[in-house]
Formats: sequence, C-alpha cells, structure tokens
Amino acid sequence: MSKVLIIGAGGVGSVVTHKCAQIPEVFSEICLASRTKSKCDAIASQLDREISTAKVDADNVPETIALLKDFQPDLVINVALPYQDLTIMDACLESSVNYLDTANYEPRDEAKFEYHWQWAYQERFKEAGLMALLGCGFDPGVTNIFTAHAKKHHFDRIDTLDIIDCNAGDHGKHFATNFNPEINIREVTANGRFYEKGEWKETEPLSVHRSFDFPEGIGPKDMYLMYHEEMESLAKHLPEIQRMRFWMTFSQQYLTHLRVLENIGMTRIDPIVYQGQEIVPLQFLKAVLPDPGSLGESTKGRTCIGCVLDGEKDGQRKHYYIYNICDHEQCFAEVNSQAVSYTTGVPAMIGAMMMLTDKWKDQGVFNVEQFDPDPFMNELNRHGLPWKEVILDGKPDVLND
Ligand code: NDP
Repeated sequence: MSKVLIIGAGGVGSVVTHKCAQIPEVFSEICLASRTKSKCDAIASQLDREISTAKVDADNVPETIALLKDFQPDLVINVALPYQDLTIMDACLESSVNYLDTANYEPRDEAKFEYHWQWAYQERFKEAGLMALLGCGFDPGVTNIFTAHAKKHHFDRIDTLDIIDCNAGDHGKHFATNFNPEINIREVTANGRFYEKGEWKETEPLSVHRSFDFPEGIGPKDMYLMYHEEMESLAKHLPEIQRMRFWMTFSQQYLTHLRVLENIGMTRIDPIVYQGQEIVPLQFLKAVLPDPGSLGESTKGRTCIGCVLDGEKDGQRKHYYIYNICDHEQCFAEVNSQAVSYTTGVPAMIGAMMMLTDKWKDQGVFNVEQFDPDPFMNELNRHGLPWKEVILDGKPDVLND
C-alpha cells in the first residue's frame, strides 16, 4: 500500500497514471499534478477509480514542497520535462520523498544530455536515506535493463552494444514528433556521439546511417547514429563494453521537414526578439506542431526497440538480440495513447513498483542497470511490454564497421 505523486500530465504522464491505476494493491493512492490542472482532470476522468489531481509548477521548489508536504507521497514519478529534474529532486530531499524519472536533466539553454548534475545528488539522497532512480523509461530504461539481463544470463563478457530504436508507426501527419517536440528535436539535431574503448567520438548530426532488417514483418529501415543518455551510465556501470552506439529510425519525410526547419532557424533554442517580445523559435514551433498526446487515435503500426550485443560466453563468441515490439493501436485501445508514450510510461510504472515493493531498494542516486534485472523483466511481460531474445547465427551487419 503506497501513495504516489505523478508530476506531468502529458503523453507519458497519462500512460503512467493509467497503468498505476490498474494496480491498486501497489498504488493505493495516486495524485496527478501538472502545470495545467485541467489536463490532470481530463486524464483522471478516463479512469475507473478515483485519483486526486493538483496544479503545480515544478520549476518552483517551494510550490512543489508544499504539494509534497500536503499529499505526503512515498514516491514522486517525474514525467514532466527534463528541465524540472533538479527542482523536483530538491523538493523530494526537502520533504523526505523518493524520486524516479525517465530522462536526464537538461539545462534549457543548452542541449546537453549528461547525468553529472543528477549524480551529484548521490550523497544528499544517501544521507537522507532516500532513493532516486534515474532514466526509467524505455530508452533510457528498458534498454539498460536488457543489457543488464544479457550480462547476467547470456554473456561472460560483453564487447559491443548497439541500441536500436525503430518507430515503424505512421500518424498520418506531414510532420509530428512522438514525444515532446522540443525535447525530441533538441535530441535529434544534436551531434551524434558514440563510445569506443573508453573515449567518446562525435559525428555530425544524422551523418552516419545503416539499414537494419527489423523482425516480425517490420522489415528493413534506415536508422541514424545519435547520442543517447543511457550510454553514459552504461559506460560507467559496465566498463567492459568496448563500443556502444545508439541508432534511431527516421523516415525520409521526417528528415526532409526537419532539415527545412533547421535551415530556416526554427529549431534554434536561443531567444530572439519578435514584436518586442523574446521567444525561443523551437518553443514556438512546439506550439504549432501536433500535440504528441493527440496522435494516439491516428497512429498505426508498431515500434521495435532493443539491443544487439556481441561478446563471449564459455569461451565462444556470441551474438544476441533482445527486443520489444509494441503496437500503437493496441496501446490506444488500452490507455488512449500511442506506443511511444506507452513504452515510456509502462517502465516508469514498473520502476515505481520495484521501489515501492522493496524489490529495488537502496539509498542514493541510481541508474536502472545497477539493480537485479529479473523482477523488472518479469513485470514487463505482465504489463504490456513482452520481450523476445534471439541468439543470432552470425554477426549482424549493424555490428560491422
Ligand atoms: P509532454 O510535453 O507531452 O508532457 C510534459 C508534461 O509536463 C506536460 O503536461 C506539462 O504540463 C508538464 N510540465 C512541463 N513543465 C512543467 C512544470 N514546470 N511543472 C509541472 N508540470 C510541467 O511530454 P511527454 O509526456 O512526451 O514526455 C515526458 C517526459 O518523458 C520527458 O521528460 C521526456 O523526455 C521523457 N521521455 C522519456 C523516454 C524514455 O524512453 N526514457 C521517451 C519519451 C519521453 P502542461 O501541459 O500543463 O504545460
């Protein structure tokens, strides 16, 4: 029996709320809070049990502390934006509440995806006897847990890891992003980066690409090398891995629109003055793009996110692929959201369940690969994200240089 406060009533927050509400034996009291309370109320009205809702500006630490002191949750699930990570962690420390999120902190004025700001809270959480679990979505999140599972059950030593994120869905719009457009476009337009033999190597944005033949009828898709935050924590916690890369599929239509938006300055994150008022072009663009939360109804097709690993087991080379396939329309039928929000929200709920049932319990700041993957992997199968693993005959093309 426990009380959970979910902050952020967007696409992911809606899925987390639906999924927590399905499990009253763990999440006995739920409060959903966001900047706009009417969004929380709209989500609450879709549920078949009572939850409370609240308005909070999580950039404001005293306001967040007041809500925490009033509701007194055991855990905060932060599914607002990465900009709020540190203020919510500060409020949790002040109010003695555990913390979980799905994306690492980013300063607003610089698209930098690094854990150091949050890892710096290690001693304070430890001293307070509290736990913070970072990056518990799908990627980061499940991809880290897939890697920990592979290490525990399939490899004596992992040499290479390729994380492969494919959205083979179609929302029927000319251009839209599947999660918060501002965060998504900052990520995609940043330089690519991969890890090799202890060093980070940079590439021009979207300049390296490969084709990968996705399983179960999804087929070959072009995917592009990008930086993604889970590589930083995996490099720290699984230092044996010699090379790590992250790949994401994009359609030519998406890339053409993005290139035009970039070329005309619409993806800039520095403020400009327009009619006497400062605006950030990317934030303005977000306001005119479709709300990712509204894409669920029209999105068809599937996502396929997983890890291809190469290494050694019992003196033999081993090539291994583990993945989840998630169907956009099935997600919408269950929780009114498309699969990108679903694949993020379900792991956040399971991470919260791990913490609240003491299956994952410690004091300090942690990434998900630091815990036993087995109970989490079991819950993925039970709560809508079943996974499959395949021992590959030979080295797949994606692993070749
Ligand atoms: P949305 O933009 O749909 O939702 C974000 C929500 O946060 C909005 O409801 C917004 O409220 C609320 N919010 C923003 N600022 C504040 C604030 N200062 N105080 C309180 N609430 C605030 O984003 P998504 O749901 O798509 O994404 C949520 C998070 O999930 C992001 O951090 C994203 O990076 C992460 N993510 C992680 C993935 C993973 O696999 N690990 C994959 C996809 C997303 P309002 O509408 O009222 O302004």
